[in-house]
Amino acid sequence: MGRTLAKLGGKPLFEHPVEGQYPGALVMGTEEAAAVSDVALSRSPFRYYGLNMQHKVQSFENELAKYLDVRYALGVTSCTAALFVALKALKLGYGDKVAVPAFTFLATAGAVVSAGAVPVFIDIDESIGMDPIDLDKKLSADDEIKAVIIVPLLGYPCDMDALLAVARKYGVRVIEDVAQSCGASYSGRKLGTLGDIGVFSFQMNKLITAGEGGAVVTNDPNLFIRAVRFHDQGIFREQERYGLHSVDEADAFAGLNFRMSEFTGAVMGEQLAKLPEIIRRMRSVHDLIYHELKERAPKLQLRKLFDQEGTIGCYIALITPTPEIAQEFIAGLQAENISSYLLYEGMPLFRRDIFRLRRSAEKDNFPYNYPFRNPIENPEMSCPRAIDLCPRTVFIPISPHFTQEDGELLIEGILSVYPSEAANI
Ligand SMILES: *Cc1c(COP(=O)(O)O)cnc(C)c1O
Repeated sequence: MGRTLAKLGGKPLFEHPVEGQYPGALVMGTEEAAAVSDVALSRSPFRYYGLNMQHKVQSFENELAKYLDVRYALGVTSCTAALFVALKALKLGYGDKVAVPAFTFLATAGAVVSAGAVPVFIDIDESIGMDPIDLDKKLSADDEIKAVIIVPLLGYPCDMDALLAVARKYGVRVIEDVAQSCGASYSGRKLGTLGDIGVFSFQMNKLITAGEGGAVVTNDPNLFIRAVRFHDQGIFREQERYGLHSVDEADAFAGLNFRMSEFTGAVMGEQLAKLPEIIRRMRSVHDLIYHELKERAPKLQLRKLFDQEGTIGCYIALITPTPEIAQEFIAGLQAENISSYLLYEGMPLFRRDIFRLRRSAEKDNFPYNYPFRNPIENPEMSCPRAIDLCPRTVFIPISPHFTQEDGELLIEGILSVYPSEAANI
């Protein structure tokens, strides 16, 4: 107390706006430059043959598999490509429905539509992740839903035990879209390895990055073979590398090209090596803020965290009482030079025209025109909590460059700016 808020003319807590996002890009430097230079000087930018191969993609895949403790990892061009590959590895397409969370990035549901299946939106809980109770309800009502895509948003795991139990109960396959949470875990296991297939993004806005890039991971050799084939024109190379000598050419099918370039592999190898330190730094600031807020302002509602040890700490999020209070809070923080925002403008994905109007690139409203036995659920009626929570959940990014003192300032900022009548603090 005692200090004048910046929005009332006081001195801002932070002298300059704080850079919070792009953790991987923020720590990019000479290591990545040297690795890219290796590829250029060896004149071997392609992963499967070259003049003097550096095997950067292969090393990256091996390191990623080791880091995640998963059997197989495949580098691809993006997480959207990885989602597409995962859906095709699972043989999902026209005539199938796939459950997706009501609140996620365009790509999660967009890949489903592009793969020829129809997304069914599932409501969220106070972790801002998929709600297992609504998943159970929708799977029990519609046996045309063949798979579920679980999305841990901005570093927090979802209610995985409950979600996986529901998926098992109905025999649906599980894809984990870990684009925003590389390195996060649940019960000691890395996200992306708990379901059938996990997918990752290395686009600029994610944890670690090469500008673009993605990965598919799985423990299932058959799904892996199908993933490799779909990402490489139906071909499966490197049988010896994986010890998969029984791969049958009679199982080949038409695919596309989502192969990762050696330049991307080179950068990603270095970025992955930096990931544990990035997470360690963000986590220490996140945990400081999280525990202090719980203790000093027990009435503030923090985003629910299902595994204290599982977050990577890239964001602190508060669920405010109303959208108006959320806006007031964001403006107050901005005056203190603390960045914060509503994810996806606080809008559930099903309210975007692309999904609200069921638009695809295809003729005849494909794939929505499939003669399903059960009507496609109307999320406006069936996802009330997404509609309620999204516009009042405020996300505050944590930079790997933040010190403990920055963490203390963030706590002071949050406590002094938060509209006090809303929290009795
Ligand atoms: C960013 C993102 C994607 C898409 O990743 P790209 O690598 O840009 O294709 C998919 N899902 C989620 C949840 C994302 O945040």
